[in-house]
Parts: sequence; structure tokens; C-alpha cells
Amino acid sequence: SIDAPKAEKKVTTTCTYCGVGCEFDLNVVDNKVVRVTSNPNAPVNGMHTCVKGRFGYDFVHHPDRLTKPMVREYLLKGQPRPSKSDRGQWVETDWDTALNLIAQKMVSYRDTYGPDSIGVFSSAKCTNEENYLMNKFARQVIGTNNVDHCARLCHSSTVAGLATTLGSGAMTNPIADICANANSMLIIGSNTTEQHPVFGAKIRQAVLRRKVKLVVADPRKIDITEFAVLHLQQKPGTDIALVNGLMYIILEKGYENKVFIEERTEGFEAVRENVLQYPPERVSEITGIPVEQLYEAVEIFVQNAPMAVFWAMGITQHTVGVHNVYALADLQMMLGNFGIKGGGVNPLRGQNNVQGACDMGALPNVYPGYQAVTAEAAQKKFEDAWGVPLVNKVGRTVTEMIPATVDGSTKALYILGENPVMTDPDTNHVRHCLEELDFFVLQEIFPSETAVYADVLLPGVTFVEKTGTFTNTERRVQMVRQAVEPLGDARQDWWITSQIAKRIIDLGNRKPAAAPYAAWDYQNSDEIMKEIAALTPSYGGISHDRLNAGESLHWPCPDASHPGTPILHIGKFTRGKGLFLPAIHLDPSEMPDDNYPMVMTTGRVIYHWHGGEMTRRAKGLMEVYGQAKIEVSPSDAERLGLNKEVTKVKVTSRRGSITAEAWVTERVPEGLIYANFHFPENSANILTKAALDPISKIPEYKVTAVNIEAA
Ligand code: SF4
Repeated sequence: SIDAPKAEKKVTTTCTYCGVGCEFDLNVVDNKVVRVTSNPNAPVNGMHTCVKGRFGYDFVHHPDRLTKPMVREYLLKGQPRPSKSDRGQWVETDWDTALNLIAQKMVSYRDTYGPDSIGVFSSAKCTNEENYLMNKFARQVIGTNNVDHCARLCHSSTVAGLATTLGSGAMTNPIADICANANSMLIIGSNTTEQHPVFGAKIRQAVLRRKVKLVVADPRKIDITEFAVLHLQQKPGTDIALVNGLMYIILEKGYENKVFIEERTEGFEAVRENVLQYPPERVSEITGIPVEQLYEAVEIFVQNAPMAVFWAMGITQHTVGVHNVYALADLQMMLGNFGIKGGGVNPLRGQNNVQGACDMGALPNVYPGYQAVTAEAAQKKFEDAWGVPLVNKVGRTVTEMIPATVDGSTKALYILGENPVMTDPDTNHVRHCLEELDFFVLQEIFPSETAVYADVLLPGVTFVEKTGTFTNTERRVQMVRQAVEPLGDARQDWWITSQIAKRIIDLGNRKPAAAPYAAWDYQNSDEIMKEIAALTPSYGGISHDRLNAGESLHWPCPDASHPGTPILHIGKFTRGKGLFLPAIHLDPSEMPDDNYPMVMTTGRVIYHWHGGEMTRRAKGLMEVYGQAKIEVSPSDAERLGLNKEVTKVKVTSRRGSITAEAWVTERVPEGLIYANFHFPENSANILTKAALDPISKIPEYKVTAVNIEAA
């Protein structure tokens, strides 16, 4: 527009929202981002962005931003906490006061109750460098493996499932390769056009331009089904039966890739035996999918090889999430769709840097690069690097650390940029657990819903104010570049963590011996990346210098001359042979009954991001989608008496109730509703249950039994 403000400078950076990893230019005037423009050199997205990347940046300068460290008055006065539910007044303070107080408290909890009384939540919104430091902070400074982050809530089933079957828990093929070379695709449990919008656009282009045959398996009629040759509309929580049923037909028809199975895999017989328990008629009964559609899907995949599978949280967020992932890996091994262009298993990671946060060891069971804390060699390597003895016992997950406040096993938490009140299941219980905490440090950009329970609030910065790297869902490492100075007294997150670490080391008796990476004297994030590269084999060749010189590197990238690895498992799986593992259908933890006869499934909408902290503070996004809406089928709407005057519904589960506007739509079938968790007053997580997958500890967000009435 001719009225557009004149940009003084453009800074190329990577989007802070989703795992697609779009790059674009921030246009800055007077230390303020005034617009986002496309950069044709962006390796993933070119000129594309979605509505959030393009218009969702004004949260950066929002008046709610935290710009000063804050401490509760009772702590500054050395008084007891006013009450469990009330931590009293906030008092703005200086950095030294806040950081010294944190160090004293943390040392005291560690000395009195042991290092495992402290929990550390890292952040998939933050950079690799910051996540590496959070992993080092928990392990080296505190002496615990109680470090985790929100991957626990989204793709922990993927990481556990694929690490076991293939040896690597990540997406195998880049999107550009798949869109150029796949001849068919299966999207299962991924609302791609809304949650990974630029990938959704590229998949639609591949369907329209290359006539790729797309099959979508989803309980809802999501937008991408309009581009599919076949929509398999399974009942929520029946994915294993569906995929086993497809494999039954593949075996029945003799379509399995015998050479691939023989040469590159093991464990096939156990899967064959299991799959034979899933004949199409039984699968149809469990899933609700007509038998002929199961046969049609198999023909599409076999006649149009290679086929690529995509999934997201529709697969992972179940009590059988890990088995769901086994089933998809089995399907692709059976068809021989690994280590080739246009194939593979492709979990679409949610947050901008959730892949990187996992890579950096912000997990309770692994050091950076998935080096197990229980492996002696890895333990010794990091003990030698950091100069302290380390523990070889797997730590607690996010979904274990919060409930452990109730029996006092978790006394203190240090959370970087996460908002469990909005994002964890069963909000009322999460609030209760956070009240039980003795001491809680929250490093954030806004006073979030979770900040109510904090004792110290530290002002971190947004992606616009920091430099470092994000790793996108394709394992591609990209630069994030500082475009404006931090607001007020806010500080780079790596600086804050380093300052806490140094003070705890100075004050306590856990002093590192002289070791190459014992210190915390970082001057910038480039230095941290050098330490990461030295200790993380898959990042060994990654540096800011290479990325700033224009290289776009997919890990594994073991040394400075390595070009990176866009496609995994060529010739050999990371674990050697691919491991077939049987997946067994089990009902979800909560099934509909007389009192709660409907099923609620949860997710997001394109205009908002997770707990909504950033997007609820983006003006344009709020103008388009300013309140929660619950998808209700036309037949259920009629039964409930919804009309022009009666537009709201009250939804109740065993854990609580919410009231919100109904969106009467054929996107959901009768008996199913869809709700999001972007708005605190009627977040779907008030209703969800903390039933966990026994392996990955992910909660079952996708199936909740509810009752619904007109409000
Ligand atoms: Fe950002 Fe994802 Fe949208 Fe790209 S698709 S602009 S990475 S939110």
C-alpha cells in the first residue's frame, strides 16, 4: 500500500509459530516491527507464509509485555506466603535481586530435599541454544534429569515410537522432496491446512499440479479432505485398527515388499500374526469405515508408489499413541517406502522449535543428540565435558512433575516459556498442583495464566529480540536473527539461564571441576552453538557461520564439510534394521456412556497458537477469530434446539464445564464435537483427562466423553 510505513531495515528470520519453519523479513522502523514481507530465498516456504506468520507479529510490542523482573512481596520481606492460593503482591525489582533470590532458594531446595525436588521445563518456542542451556542447567547445575518440555504433550509418542522402530524419532523426508516425488500420500490425524498451513498449501499444489493421489484419514471433514481422492472417516481412537486393517489387505493381496522386508527389517512375523486379527469386516465395525474404502485405499497406495505418510497429534495424543506410531512405521516398512525420495514417515512437529528442543536434550531420558542418560558412555562423556558427576536415572516428564507437587516430590519449578494452565489436560487439577508448589520461577514474555502461581517472574524476549537457531520439522536448522533491542529490562533467555546457573554454582557446594564446557561465561549464542556441535554428533557440523553463509542444513550433519542429510534411512535404518512391532487396538481411556454420551476431540484453529498467549495479543488475528467456537454437527444442533437465538452450548465432562458459541457444521459427524484451547475462559483443557500413554506419558487429548446442552 502507498500508506505502508517506510522500512528502515529488513532482517531475515524464522517464524516463531509452527514447525514448518518459514523464513521471512521483519521490516523494522524505530526499534519496532512494522510488517512482515516474504523473502524469495526462504528455503522452505519461498514467498508463502500463513496468516499467523504474516500478520501475527504485533504481540511483540504489546503493552502486556513483561519488562522488569518481578518478585512476590512476601519473599522480599522474608515473610511466609500469604496462603496456598494467594502468593500476594508483585513487586518490580532489579535483576541482581531476582537472580540472587532464585539462586538461594534453589540451593536450599537442592540441599534440603535433593536435586530431584526441582523440576525444569524448557521451551519449544525458544532456540536450540537456549534449550541446550536448560538441559545443561538441570543436569550439570542442579544434578537432576527432571527436564522436559511441551513435546511431551504433542509428539512424545512419535519420538518414542520411531526411535524404537527406526532408531530416529524424526521426519524422514523434506516436504519439497515429498511434494516433488510422492505419487500418493496418506494424511492421518493431521489438520495440515490449519496447523502446518504452508505445507498444506504445498500438498494441495502437488495434488493439483502433479495429480498426486491423496488419502485423508480423519474423524472430521477437515479442509484438506476436499483435495483427497478418498476420505477415511474413522471414529476417534481407532487408528490402530484402521492401519492394521490396511496391512491385512496388503498381505491378503500379496502386495508387501518382500525384498525390502527380508533385507532391511526384522520382526515381520510378529506383525503378520497380529495383523491377521484385523480382517476388514472387524476393522469396519471398530472404525466405522466401509470395507470397500479400506480396499480402495490400499489400491491407491500400491498403484501409486511411493507413498508418504504424514501425521500429527491425531495420532500421538492417545493412550495408545506409541502403538499408533508403530503401526504407521510397520505400514511403510511393509510397502518398502523408506530411504527413498517421496516416501517415509513424516510426523509434522507442532511448535517452531519442538524438534530442536528434543534434539538439545530438553527431555528426561536423553542428553543432546538423543544420547541416553542411562548409557555409561554418554554419562561419562558429559561428566568429562561439564566437570560434575551426573545421574543415570531417567527423570520425570512434564506430566509427572506437575502432579508430583501434591505429594511434595516436586518442591520447586523453573519454567521457561510454557503455560501449563492452558496447555496441560484437566486445568482445574493443574491449578491445584501449581498451588502446592513451594517455589516457582517463571521466565516469560507475558504474565500468562500460569504466572498467577509464580513467585518470581523473569522477563524473557520474543523471537524478534534474539539470535540463535530453530530446527524445523524436517530437521532443518535455520537462523533466528535479532531485529530489535529487547523491550525495557527484558533479557535474552540464554543470558538469564546463564546468570541463574552461575549464581547457583557460586553459592552451592556442587562445584564443577575444570572441564572444557564447565563454565557459563557465554558472550553470545554463537558460542553456545559451538559447544552444542562439540557434544552432539548429529549437530557436529552445524554452525552459525555456515547458516549465515546461506547453507540450509538438515541433521545429521556430523562435521563441517558434511552437506546435511535431507532423507533419512537410505540403505540402512539408523538402528540398523527396521524393527516391525505389533500394534494392538485398545479403546480410549474414556468412552461415551449414558451420562457423557458424546465424544469431544480437541485441537487448534489456524488463527491461533496453542494457549493463545501471542495470538490473543495480535490484533488482526483477534479480529478474525476473537472467541472460542465449538464445532457441532447439524443433527446434534437440531436435537439440542440450537437456532439463531440459542447459539451457545455448555459442554461438561467429569472434570468441569465450559460454555462457548457453537459452530454448526458438517465438519464433525453426529456424536462428535471439536473444541480448542486458545481462550482461558472456555478452554477445552478444562474438560480433558490426564490419561497417559504408558510409554510416552502423553495425555489423551483426542478423546473425552462429554455431555452437551444448549446454553
Ligand atoms: Fe509460521 Fe507455520 Fe505459518 Fe509458516 S506455516 S508462517 S512457520 S505459522
